[in-house]
Amino acid sequence: MLLDFKEIPKANEGSGLQDTFELFGRDFLETIGYQIISEPDRGADGRKDLIVGETRKGVGGTTQKKWLVSCKHHAHSGNSVTQDNEPDILDRVKAHKCDGFIGIYSTLPAVSLSNKLKGLEDKIEFLTFDREKIEKILLESVSGNKLAQRYFPLSYKNYTKENPTPAKLFADQSSIHCENCGKDLLENKEGIWVALETYPRDYTKPSHTKGIYFSCKGKCDDILRSRYRNEGLYDAGWDDIPDLLVPTPLLFKMNTIINSLMNGETYEKDAMEKIKRMFICCFPYISRDLTSEEKETVARLMSIPNFLGGMGHNY
Ligand SMILES: [Zn+2]
Repeated sequence: MLLDFKEIPKANEGSGLQDTFELFGRDFLETIGYQIISEPDRGADGRKDLIVGETRKGVGGTTQKKWLVSCKHHAHSGNSVTQDNEPDILDRVKAHKCDGFIGIYSTLPAVSLSNKLKGLEDKIEFLTFDREKIEKILLESVSGNKLAQRYFPLSYKNYTKENPTPAKLFADQSSIHCENCGKDLLENKEGIWVALETYPRDYTKPSHTKGIYFSCKGKCDDILRSRYRNEGLYDAGWDDIPDLLVPTPLLFKMNTIINSLMNGETYEKDAMEKIKRMFICCFPYISRDLTSEEKETVARLMSIPNFLGGMGHNY
């Protein structure tokens, strides 16, 4: 599990506050498309169930379904939700004039409960969202991620740290593709970049990089390598592209290029443009989103001619 449901506090017993897990259940269902018909709140008479609506579009037109929702937060004890925790399901569904029952559980439904629900199959519809289903749904959409961030701030932060996605830094964030098969090498975190020089090499002079190519490892690289060899270019060096998606190696590699220039090594203009583009494309992977203040700074710097080293793109 990536999200720790214990981050949601235990049900409030007599504190007068709303139960956070019920609020989560409401927001969760709203995020995945249900309409909230009645909010969870606690009156003097005890509990009031959450009721949600679902609009189904079928060939016969639109139908409106009403669901009774039960939220059970057992994450702190770790116990599954049993038949005894959900008494009188059918009566509660009928009393609220609902068509079905939804269970939202921060643990798992016990076998006894699953069997009980199966026994009601021909009378009402039912659905259960356990912690695994909830987590999967939350992490696969943007709105779900937002909700996860709100209710699971610590585990969500840890999750994004371990599963970094590129920061949105440029208006047109481009990528690097294999020049043989077209595969997106950054998205797939694979492949190499290869520096090409003319053959035979004159070792008395600093190197001159004639060209650069990007490629998958293996077959695509073999094809590209022999294509360039036919043109009299040989592969003088290569690096793994995924290494450039890690902060320190990216910085080291940029330094290596600067050092090579200081040592008098030269690059064909197109080759250097490709190297620069590669660094620009890799940078979002080791960076983070800009704050609004930083965005203004970047806009100001972009208006200064040549500030970005003549990158020559709309970056
Ligand atoms: Zn390829």
